[in-house]
Amino acid sequence: MRTRRGRPPTEPVAPCSIDDDDVDPLLTAEEAGGPAPMMRLDGVAVGPGVGIGTVYLHDTGLAPIPEYRIPSGLVERERLRLAKAADRSIAEFRALGQKVRTLSGGPGEELACILEAYEQMMRGSRLLRGADRRIGEFRVNAEAAVRVEMAELIGAFSAMDDDYLAARIEDIREVGRRLIRNLNRRPRQPGLTTVPRGSIVLAEELSPADTALLNPRVVGGLATTLGARESHTAIMARSLALPAVVAVTGLMRHARAGDTVVVDGAKGCVILNPDPDTLAWYRNRRASFLRTRRNLLRLRDVPSVTRDGVAVHLQANVELPAEVEAVLQSGAEGIGLVRSEFLYMNRDCLPTADEQAAAFTDLIQHMKGRPVTIRTLDLGGEKLGDALDFKAGANPALGLRAVRLSLTRTELLRIQYEAILRAACHGPARILLPMVCTTDEVRAARAILAEVVESARAAGQPLPDPLPPLGVMIEVPAAALSADALAREADFFAIGTNDLTQYALAIDRTDEAVAHLYDPLHPAVLRLIHFATGAAQAAGIPVSVCGEMAGDPRLTALLFGLGVRELSMAAFAIPAVKQRVRRISSHTAREHAHRILGQPDAGHIAALIDVFNDG
Ligand code: PEP
Ligand code: MG
Repeated sequence: MRTRRGRPPTEPVAPCSIDDDDVDPLLTAEEAGGPAPMMRLDGVAVGPGVGIGTVYLHDTGLAPIPEYRIPSGLVERERLRLAKAADRSIAEFRALGQKVRTLSGGPGEELACILEAYEQMMRGSRLLRGADRRIGEFRVNAEAAVRVEMAELIGAFSAMDDDYLAARIEDIREVGRRLIRNLNRRPRQPGLTTVPRGSIVLAEELSPADTALLNPRVVGGLATTLGARESHTAIMARSLALPAVVAVTGLMRHARAGDTVVVDGAKGCVILNPDPDTLAWYRNRRASFLRTRRNLLRLRDVPSVTRDGVAVHLQANVELPAEVEAVLQSGAEGIGLVRSEFLYMNRDCLPTADEQAAAFTDLIQHMKGRPVTIRTLDLGGEKLGDALDFKAGANPALGLRAVRLSLTRTELLRIQYEAILRAACHGPARILLPMVCTTDEVRAARAILAEVVESARAAGQPLPDPLPPLGVMIEVPAAALSADALAREADFFAIGTNDLTQYALAIDRTDEAVAHLYDPLHPAVLRLIHFATGAAQAAGIPVSVCGEMAGDPRLTALLFGLGVRELSMAAFAIPAVKQRVRRISSHTAREHAHRILGQPDAGHIAALIDVFNDG
């Protein structure tokens, strides 16, 4: 495990699915010792720009551990909390075990065995039994009980001067650390809301909910060992305009809190302890990136039209209410996607209709008459709300998520409809259903909307006039291929290319092990977009693209050529896409798309796109 610690800085580090950080995360700065050399670690670019700052190691076990006494009546509850944290840790070790088994050869096997041993320790080791006993005996909280028990065991083992037992110390640390982390996994984890200014957050893994806690005015960027380009964590980082790199092998092993670090969100690498020349070079790059971005903002008020005068409506995707300022600055013509599920994260209880209505009203009022498309809950998959008592199935991306969940737990949908209807009295709003597969789902969701409208009317509540249109996301191949039928039920389409790519190619968009295979330029994905766009046009309903493809200026001409006239993206991407729109001529873009649809694979398509954009 530890033999790679002395890797020379110039040795290339290939991105891979997982590394030994997962079993060796407890290396402290003192243990690492010695001078810190410059080191480049490669990963996957999530972007945008360059972040320079000080390493903040998230969740290293070095964070202060809460310690307090508990009343005797709460002892059982505390024990249960410990047992639940152990269950959660077992599930994590199992998931990590599955991932490492995909590594070929010896390292994968070795790691899998270690993870199995950790799993066993979580089921009833001395550490767990001792911590459980301490909760009852000393009436201390579970975190404190684990910490003290861990320290005692480590002390006892170190004193025995036995190689085998010395090696077990690492295991105790890892298991204890993970237990404490899972005990601490409370909503609004203080660790991320109190990150010092100028930090670059480095972590083994960040959930979308964790990422939502980062304040882009305080944090300069982020990098993680796990993750993939189209994961919601990556999308969140882009929305916050944070330079970010994911799937960085060796990150947590080599980085030390307080080191200087550069996150290159364009190239997809992290430079630890840059030497003065490298630092100066990156400072220049960062300055020029910010200059370009500022220059592009000058386009804010110019119309988004092609050279021959065809309008392309550019809207913003919004995850968090705080983004609205960036949306206004970007010149967005509206909000094309509000991911409402983020209202459900980092909290203990479900958001009420009042709270949701207030959040949506705020967005709508800020947009001053420009349309706001609010997507109903898309929980499930990697996005799990803390407040929702939600059991992800064995295969969450294919399970009870999004509209399926809303139609099963209709009280959730009713509350959201009520909130959207109230907010829509303040300006134009649309309702968008995620993950639709069948016309039945649209009909069922529409029937519930009609009931909510009726009860509001009966209660004498004001209603928006006209009522918000009800649209569907086209993000499952089944929906794309039956878009002609869906277009008869839906008032508009929003094509979600992130999930459409995931489901068309059978590639988990969050899994770094297959991230290199995830490619929205696969001909199958482009044909699905083309078919769905054509169906919407034939039915005379609006169609937009709101997946990450929409914000990539390299793809603007292609999407235009496929018939798309509305794009919704992270706010920061709007000016660059607008610049691209203004260089397009309809005729050449259509020819470009036509040529691309005739290509056999993503490689040929990418090459043609480069030629077109450079030409
Ligand atoms: C998509 O799938 O393209 C999309 C916009 O939805 P999300 O990324 O939230 O799944
Ligand atoms: Mg989606």
